[in-house]
Amino acid sequence: MDSRNLNLRDMVQFVTIVPDSQTHIYLKEPNLCADKCDLKPCTYICPSHVYYFDDDNQQTLIDYKRCIECGACIYACPLENIDWHFPRPGYGIFYKY
Ligand code: SF4
Ligand code: SF4
Repeated sequence: MDSRNLNLRDMVQFVTIVPDSQTHIYLKEPNLCADKCDLKPCTYICPSHVYYFDDDNQQTLIDYKRCIECGACIYACPLENIDWHFPRPGYGIFYKY
């Protein structure tokens, strides 16, 4: 298959994730999400659906084990509220060819 014809969601199939036991993604000010962020772009920018806004509890939930380390959320958050680092060595994504 010609990889130029694949979109990002197709490409995710070539990634293996070794999840760390501790998160590499934090919110700097969790209350900002409910109070100051109307569009919540992290919930639809992330290609791996790491972020979910819990309407009942008015908080952003982070399923960090799904992260494929693309970096998009760092730039998508309008309030620069995401504290993101690479997972520890030996954890995170590995590419399959
Ligand atoms: S985009 Fe940023 S401020 Fe908005 S909900 Fe997501 S983490 Fe919170
Ligand atoms: S780095 Fe990419 S995959 Fe990971 S949480 Fe951010 S947008 Fe999602």
